[in-house]
Amino acid sequence: MTAETAPDSSILPLDLRQDVALLTAAIMDINSVSGNETELADAVEAALRTIPELHIVRDGDAIIARTELGNPERVILAGHLDTVPLPLTEGSLGTVPITWESGVPGQGVLYGRGATDMKGGVAVQLALAAGMFDGGTAPKRDVTFVFYDHEEVEAVKSGLGRLVRNHGNLLDGDFAILLEPTDGTVEGGCNGTSRFEATTVGEAAHSARAWMGSNAIHAAAPILERLAAYQPLTVNVDGLDYRESLNAVRINGGTAGNVIPDKCVVEINYRFAPDKTPDQAEAVVRELLEGFDVVRTDAAAGARPGLQHPAAASFVAAVGAEPKPKYGWTDVARFSELGIPAVNFGPGDPLLAHKDNEHVHADAIRKCLQALQAWLAG
Ligand SMILES: [Zn+2]
Repeated sequence: MTAETAPDSSILPLDLRQDVALLTAAIMDINSVSGNETELADAVEAALRTIPELHIVRDGDAIIARTELGNPERVILAGHLDTVPLPLTEGSLGTVPITWESGVPGQGVLYGRGATDMKGGVAVQLALAAGMFDGGTAPKRDVTFVFYDHEEVEAVKSGLGRLVRNHGNLLDGDFAILLEPTDGTVEGGCNGTSRFEATTVGEAAHSARAWMGSNAIHAAAPILERLAAYQPLTVNVDGLDYRESLNAVRINGGTAGNVIPDKCVVEINYRFAPDKTPDQAEAVVRELLEGFDVVRTDAAAGARPGLQHPAAASFVAAVGAEPKPKYGWTDVARFSELGIPAVNFGPGDPLLAHKDNEHVHADAIRKCLQALQAWLAG
């Protein structure tokens, strides 16, 4: 899948040296809803190929760009190129093309799809790559820039997962930063996530003669009672408090308005702290729902924050903000699987991600770039 061919010259080149907020806007104007990343990947690749110090590999709509300076330490800066679909509500600002609230490009709040998740982060990566060798000084750490497709969809399609399979050797490193939105704080590691189905079985009968059957939905009541009564844990891992969640997220049962249901399935989602493996998380659910038929349908391990690693510690010190735990599952877990400690650090409020009014302040993007520039130079 590796292509060393020259990119399409008809693409308008991205100017990586313009103000990073304006660069963000330019990237946001290229629609890249998951599955439709090629145009943006082409533009990113073309721009990166203007930086002669970078060694570039393209795989599908993902790109790895590495410095090869022989420094003792290597950091990975990673971000996804895709976004969730555009808003369906007419007049929503979180769409393509972008809108500057002030009417002045580069000033104030920038609205559009990917504003927080995560084209500001991608713009910061690109600006860092372009500026690294300016002024004749080479960075003290080697850097691997990773841009990938299909983050916002099923895990099997993940562009990062594909890069790990096809080019795992190019993803070695001491520390990884994912530029997902964290509002400028450092969020370490992430909770794991797993899904289960708890099934009850009854006997169908006409509801006019209910005593001839047995109601599977009623039989599921204790499952819901135990879940509702469960007090989720808060677990300290490497100095950060990870708050867990255990919830019924869907329930399915019954066939008709006059039939006693013979089957009921309760779908359960357990977000577990990164001190547990998926198997240990499963044991928690099985113990709570003892006596019920429970099947695990999905699981992804969490990631320990790894903030005691020297590269991570120096990064946290340079940013100067108190690190926080990450509750949602992110691709830091993929780096964790490779044995690379990873944190999230990026511009924009994560709570605005995927919303119809997705937006980011231009200064938040600039601040993120300055923090990373200072750390890489230091
Ligand atoms: Zn994201």
